[in-house]
Amino acid sequence: MSQEQAGFQEALDAALPILQGMKKSLRKQPSATHASLERLSAVDPVKYPPAPAIPAAPRILSTPTDDGRLAKLEELKGRILACTRCPNLVASRTQVVYGVGNPFAELLFVGEAPGEEEDLRGEPFIGKAGQLLTKIIGAMEFSREEIFIANVLKCRPDMPAGESGNRKPKPAEMATCLPWLTEQIGLIKPKVIVALGLTAVEGLLGEPRTMRDVRGKWLDYHGVPLMPTYHPAYLLRNQTLAEKRKVWEDMLLVLEKLGRPISAKQRGYFLEKA
Ligand code: SF4
Repeated sequence: MSQEQAGFQEALDAALPILQGMKKSLRKQPSATHASLERLSAVDPVKYPPAPAIPAAPRILSTPTDDGRLAKLEELKGRILACTRCPNLVASRTQVVYGVGNPFAELLFVGEAPGEEEDLRGEPFIGKAGQLLTKIIGAMEFSREEIFIANVLKCRPDMPAGESGNRKPKPAEMATCLPWLTEQIGLIKPKVIVALGLTAVEGLLGEPRTMRDVRGKWLDYHGVPLMPTYHPAYLLRNQTLAEKRKVWEDMLLVLEKLGRPISAKQRGYFLEKA
């Protein structure tokens, strides 16, 4: 054995007992993971209460890919809210009622103009007629958040001094405001538009019509199928099964156009009992 090899053997002999001792002591210790779990289970639950449960994620209405429309709609909204094209309405309005709902909605409801309550709250269709519209939307198995609701005229029509209530928008007022709605429709790209009431139909099409001629028939608005039906306020005044059924039949046509499943129960709503 060379002198160098002898030195190495001597160092190895000295190190061996130390290494064996270390091995024994490691066997006696619990693993790091085990120790961590033991420490966690020993935590005082009063002093350190468990973290609150994470609330369930909100229901995702749709998972569209933003094609840039969100930013464009936001920019459009800014311009609409600052609009002063109608000085008389600017003077009397509380605020511009932009519209509400899903920027990716496949279904768009259009009314004529905000009423007193909508003007105060800044949202269309929230009065009694709006509540009925929400019920119709629910019967179609949509929620208000899934669709979009807007008016042809975005400011409440001004009332003559001393008079309360709401008045119909004038054709010229609707013609002035319509380009805003057209821009919204161009960005939201709904598959179907429902016009609620003859005034909304006339505002969209720019010419007088009769309800008898248009209700329940497909029209066209810039390439988007347009279904005229009664305004919910009309149904509140005419609460017969027959009138409700007319509106419901129009909504069944809308559901068919959208390719939505329709149950037998839905098909039978508001039918006269035999
Ligand atoms: S009604 Fe329409 S066009 Fe007229 S001021 Fe209001 S937002 Fe502008």
